Amino acid sequence: MIDNYKHKGLRKKLVEQIREKGIVDENVLSAIEKVPRHFFLDSSFLEIAYQDKPFPIGAGQTISQPYTVAYQSELLKIKKGDKVLEVGTGSGYQSCILLEMGAKVFSIERIKLLYQKTKMLLPQMGYNPKMFFGDGYKGLPSYAPFDKIIVTAGAPIIPNDLIHQLSIGGVLVIPVGANDVQIMTVITKISENEIDKKEMGYFRFVPLLEDKHFDKN
Ligand code: SAH
Repeated sequence: MIDNYKHKGLRKKLVEQIREKGIVDENVLSAIEKVPRHFFLDSSFLEIAYQDKPFPIGAGQTISQPYTVAYQSELLKIKKGDKVLEVGTGSGYQSCILLEMGAKVFSIERIKLLYQKTKMLLPQMGYNPKMFFGDGYKGLPSYAPFDKIIVTAGAPIIPNDLIHQLSIGGVLVIPVGANDVQIMTVITKISENEIDKKEMGYFRFVPLLEDKHFDKN
């Protein structure tokens, strides 16, 4: 795996594009500038790894568009040491961005092939989130509470378990919508029984799939 001056130059350009699209959190932008996105894609995608576009990562899934990764990361308002749960590990790119921002990352993936691939790749790159194979609808009760939770697949509903697993003052960023368009939703847990809900822009994600479709292969 080589990360040369050309890749670094392409990353700088990508950061400028994302900045122009409205991302202001310098912590997010510097994480995008650090993480070598071309390591997450097949070598045939090398030249286009730094375009602001989603790409296939196998098993019918995609690595999110860098702008979307940046947008969700900014909404999370990450502070150093925050304990973050990610639902939908996929390629692991989003996990690496959160690690670069100083978070402790717990990430869960329901497709075994992707879970195994990413569990191999990330440590080789020097990134060590805690990775789990399972159904993210249920979160990770034994590791809760989390300061922040990010869902990186389109959710038909907001899973109650995820709200339960947020700490007071914690933030959940989740794209909500049953069809192919979702509205980015930010839930802040005010108290044990009270939440604040804000709806942001529209996005397109692969679907968050429930337990009954659980992929055991
Ligand atoms: N964050 C990823 C984006 C991957 S796409 C990245 O940076 O590459 C969304 C991922 O969510 C897919 O890998 C999909 O398999 C996974 N997913 C969908 N439903 C899930 C569920 N219920 N639990 C865990 N992962 C799920």
